Amino acid sequence: MHDTTLQQELGAIVGDAYALFDPGDHTRFVNDWFGREGGRARCVLRPRSTAEVAAVVACCARHGVPVVPQGGNTGLAGGALPDQSAAQCVLSLERMTAVREIDPAGKTLTVEAGAVLAHVHAAAREQFMEFPLTMGSQGSATIGGLLSTNAGGTAVLRHGNARALCLGLEVVTPQGEVWNGLRRLRKDNTGYDLRDLYIGAEGTLGIITAAVLTLVPTPKARLAAMVSVTSPEQALLLLQAVQQRAGALLTAFELISDDCLRLVAQYFPQLPHPFGAQAAPWAVLLELSDHESEGHAFELMEGLLGEALEGGLVKDALIPQSLAQSARFWDMREHIPLAQVEDGKNVKHDISLPISAIPRFLQEAGPLLEALHPGARIIAFGHVGDGNLHYNVAAPPGRPPAEVLDRKAAIHATVHDLVVRLGGSISAEHGIGRMKAAELAHYKSPLEMRLFESVKRALDPLGLMNPGKVLLARQP
Ligand SMILES: Cc1cc2nc3c(=O)[nH]c(=O)nc-3n(C[C@H](O)[C@H](O)[C@H](O)COP(=O)(O)OP(=O)(O)OC[C@H]3O[C@@H](n4cnc5c(N)ncnc54)[C@H](O)[C@@H]3O)c2cc1C
Repeated sequence: MHDTTLQQELGAIVGDAYALFDPGDHTRFVNDWFGREGGRARCVLRPRSTAEVAAVVACCARHGVPVVPQGGNTGLAGGALPDQSAAQCVLSLERMTAVREIDPAGKTLTVEAGAVLAHVHAAAREQFMEFPLTMGSQGSATIGGLLSTNAGGTAVLRHGNARALCLGLEVVTPQGEVWNGLRRLRKDNTGYDLRDLYIGAEGTLGIITAAVLTLVPTPKARLAAMVSVTSPEQALLLLQAVQQRAGALLTAFELISDDCLRLVAQYFPQLPHPFGAQAAPWAVLLELSDHESEGHAFELMEGLLGEALEGGLVKDALIPQSLAQSARFWDMREHIPLAQVEDGKNVKHDISLPISAIPRFLQEAGPLLEALHPGARIIAFGHVGDGNLHYNVAAPPGRPPAEVLDRKAAIHATVHDLVVRLGGSISAEHGIGRMKAAELAHYKSPLEMRLFESVKRALDPLGLMNPGKVLLARQP
């Protein structure tokens, strides 16, 4: 089919200004947040309603054109990018941002898939509630992308991941039909859970156009403190002690290696190392969310950390004097990915482990990588309360990033073999995208892969919905 026909048909659906066929208009849609893994698109489509999405998908299906759904393009697995063939259409949800409904009594918010997470936070705040999914990319990541990757972030410990915060979905199927599953039910045992199938599917089974999200009451105070600990084992003992005392008030527990804090201080001098030269090898950022009062939060934090210091669980503790000071600790945490960008590319791993296996993983992975690439730097941090580590391997000091990037496959294999041996997962919260599709096939059992493929074939028999993501592209 000649592109003019496709251009005319798609232009008639979304308007010519929103059917972009000139590659000069594609730059921000074909490169991800890090500016890496770029592809080439046949066109970029920017519909503004569910009906337009459905018509676009039906048109692409008629013409055999693959569709790549895209939200904020902050995904870290290459899932929202077209391949190099210039045959795929990027379908961006960025114009679909409306909050359709807020139900204060039922504590739900129904929103279109292109809404940016920070805007959803603001809409919830207006109702004196909050949507508790939070992460460094919240200024750009969209609800559709967050659900499609089943994103995690910093409050999973208390509120669960994106899946746990979604009650219903509206989805355009690969055939261009609209499934209205926008239910506001907390209990619904009526057959297979299609919602759960689409969440985490990374756009390979259909396009999410709207979602019902759950809201929670806003706490009176959210207070973060930073402590230094001598080992990951100590961090886990602290986690247990804090959970015992604070229960559900503990909303985040982040493990940060000293090297991460030094990297942040190096590239962002306005955020100096909190413990200075005497720092222990690890730090923990913990957060309490208190529904009673600010005073109660401070009192509880002081009590908890006082006991931890006395009991030798922590080496040092920084208890903020104000909520503003507490926000600064989050600033440091959120600048770790940014400091890594400044520092140069590295080999990234987003892994999860049974929480109790984290110390063993850290103990065994370091020497294995040192043997593979002497001097390589480990940048390790993560949502350790959920068993999730971001374990990144950078070139030795003063050496070019290419040194480790050239050995990416061997480094991934070393880390992921160990993760799987310890009962963990090769993707905790970033998904599989196209970057880990081959590894997924390697590490999952043949039966699990066959079941995945049956689901894909049943819902997307033509294989046009985000091909090559999660599952390797089918051979023609
Ligand atoms: C600085 C930074 C910090 C981050 N921190 C975290 C973190 O703490 N926790 C975490 O989990 N992630 C984190 N991420 C990763 C990223 O923000 C999440 O993966 C997010 O969910 C992606 O949302 P998005 O709208 O940008 O999706 P995109 O990148 O556009 O897409 C991601 C995937 O979802 C699919 N998709 C997008 N929209 C739809 C839709 N409407 N329907 C169907 N499929 C769709 C795409 O095809 C792709 O496969 C971070 C990223 C950055 C850059």
